[in-house]
Amino acid sequence: MLDFCIIGSGVSGSTIAHQLSKKYSVHIIDKARGPGGRASNKRFKKNLSFDHGVQYISPKSKQFYKIIKTLCKKKEAKIWTGNHLDFTFEKKEITEKFIGMKGNNFISKYYTKKIKKSFQSSVRSIFKNKYFWEIKLDNDENIQARSVILTCPFPQTKKIAGKYFEKKILNLKINMEPNITTMLAFKNQKTVPVSSIKFNDDILTWAANENSKNRFNSSNSLWTLQSSAGWARKNINKYKKSKKVENTLISKFLNFTGYKKNKIIFKKTHGWKYSYNFNGSPFKSYWNKKLRLGLCADWFIGPKVENAWLSAIDLAKKIK
Ligand SMILES: Cc1cc2nc3c(=O)[nH]c(=O)nc-3n(C[C@H](O)[C@H](O)[C@H](O)COP(=O)(O)OP(=O)(O)OC[C@H]3O[C@@H](n4cnc5c(N)ncnc54)[C@H](O)[C@@H]3O)c2cc1C
Repeated sequence: MLDFCIIGSGVSGSTIAHQLSKKYSVHIIDKARGPGGRASNKRFKKNLSFDHGVQYISPKSKQFYKIIKTLCKKKEAKIWTGNHLDFTFEKKEITEKFIGMKGNNFISKYYTKKIKKSFQSSVRSIFKNKYFWEIKLDNDENIQARSVILTCPFPQTKKIAGKYFEKKILNLKINMEPNITTMLAFKNQKTVPVSSIKFNDDILTWAANENSKNRFNSSNSLWTLQSSAGWARKNINKYKKSKKVENTLISKFLNFTGYKKNKIIFKKTHGWKYSYNFNGSPFKSYWNKKLRLGLCADWFIGPKVENAWLSAIDLAKKIK
């Protein structure tokens, strides 16, 4: 029988899978089309490539910095160079911005290369019988495993497995804020000597120049725009029905940059319902040895890739 079924192939799911696979049999299940979760890359047609979730990684801990440097040596990651404009003028120490060589899902891709995984498989519920876990998928498939680990955002994790949580987890006050992201392509624009822009605005807070990542040659100019959490909170349930939401975000960008609306040849908007938990929790991860049920994810510590990784490393230590 399978030792560990891991739900989610984001940074935390792929990190814990990689750690456990050194000793145990592991199978990752994810409802998405590929690995990465919120650290993912969307490709629409040839050369229309956008990092629509995670923008960059700036490691704080020595441990994680070492991992990212190793991935740079292996040509999986690199430093995002160029001009990063910050109109919020926040006082911040200058740190390197790391991105994936081909896309910002590089950590998950690298860690799960040799691991068994099933995509487009959504987990509906889990059930513990006397001997093992039964993981029930939306397509009515059933997977059996000795242990199960959930790595989804807190509301999704709670929905799948809440009835098995101890009170200290069930009662956590985790508030995951939304984000609205628009991917845009402009026809035949001049190369802009800017890699990213942090805006001082209530609606549009960030724009990334995808061409500045030097992953592809394109005569089109590709931008990823991200909204503020406050504005997304008001619009996350409207953006699919009303074009007004997308148009508001785009208008902001056109006004700030002078790009022309009639040059837009592609636009696509994605709503992240559960983007960030700004507050963290008193724990780094959770392991119930008796039930053989584990949880790890960024929301335990804070809204960064590094925290998803740290949470998974913490859980791996508890399991060992
Ligand atoms: C718009 C945006 C911008 C961000 N920018 C940055 C940044 O610049 N730098 C940074 O460090 N961090 C950034 N973050 C935060 C970062 O994305 C997260 O901290 C990190 O990716 C979380 O990883 P995780 O593995 O814990 O969760 P996730 O990446 O959310 O992984 C959970 C996985 O579970 C899967 N899943 C959920 N429900 C089910 C189900 N029922 N069945 C099967 N699978 C399921 C999902 O498909 C997903 O793949 C950003 C996040 C967003 C949304």
